[in-house]
Amino acid sequence: MAKSSKTKSSRAKASGKIAAPAIPRPTPDNSRLKSALRIGVVGCAGRMGQMLVRAAAANERCLVVGGVERAGSSAIGRDVGALAGIDPLGVPVGSDAGDLFDAADAVLEFTSPTATLHHAELAAKHRKVHIVGTTGLEAPQIATLQRHAKQTAIVLAPNMSLGVNLLLRMVTQVARSLDPDWDIEIVEMHHRHKVDAPSGTALLFGRAAAAGRGADLDKMAERGRDGVTGARKPGAIGFAALRGGDVVGEHSVIFAAEGERIELTHKATSRDIFARGAFAAARWATGRKPGLYSMKDVLGI
Ligand code: NAD
Repeated sequence: MAKSSKTKSSRAKASGKIAAPAIPRPTPDNSRLKSALRIGVVGCAGRMGQMLVRAAAANERCLVVGGVERAGSSAIGRDVGALAGIDPLGVPVGSDAGDLFDAADAVLEFTSPTATLHHAELAAKHRKVHIVGTTGLEAPQIATLQRHAKQTAIVLAPNMSLGVNLLLRMVTQVARSLDPDWDIEIVEMHHRHKVDAPSGTALLFGRAAAAGRGADLDKMAERGRDGVTGARKPGAIGFAALRGGDVVGEHSVIFAAEGERIELTHKATSRDIFARGAFAAARWATGRKPGLYSMKDVLGI
């Protein structure tokens, strides 16, 4: 798609004519465009947004039909591909998410909780697949998402990587196998720009460990210790969040007992893994009945 738009627009430039329409539409003689999944990216100027655009442009089975940014963003009007550091795609960054949901089969979103809820409402209205990677959604916001998911398929995955999702299952199994006097601590590290803590993935690991123990994470979580905290509460699940540099995402679940320790660790070294998971989720959810799904559903684990 990137190649064909570039050729078209450079041909148009050379002839002095105005460039082709922004959103590529399938034509009867173009089977690649017809079979590709039409992807829209909300927050296309963000770290994950740009990664999604680069990965989709390189993926034969995807077609980027648009990208939007928040009102007032300096990215609006720039080419979605050029913004992501690749060849222009002939698609300018817009600010009207309604148009995007109209044009796309699936809209991928890694933004903020408030923006995500607004877009989930649009997904429901347009009956389009919505893949949500945004983290930091609180329980009432997830309940709102659930309401919108009555109209369309929404996949909510605070972590889209295959490795993390497999490790979640292992954490539940280990927690189930160990006596409750094993202490559970979750340590995560992310880049200096991350705004929420603990990470959505750390909380997923906490829930997975709590599930293995038959405990309620909301009652057992110890989030942030400072000063004279007193001894560790029996059965607590502790969290520690480190921030710095350009770390994509590292999580360790530590099971500690007298005389021994088990550590299960996942390290993400590229955001590409999240993009691949998002495309897998988009393909899986397309044509699926309305509902709020997770990466467990997508991966069948
Ligand atoms: P970022 O700040 O680089 O990007 C967010 C983008 O969203 C920005 O460009 C911002 O302008 C845009 N945005 C905000 N409100 C908007 C609106 N109303 N309409 C359109 N665009 C809007 O952040 P990031 O590092 O890309 O992370 C984004 C989110 O994704 C965070 O919650 C992060 O924790 C999460 N994340 C999830 C995964 C996963 O696998 N699920 C992986 C990485 C990051």
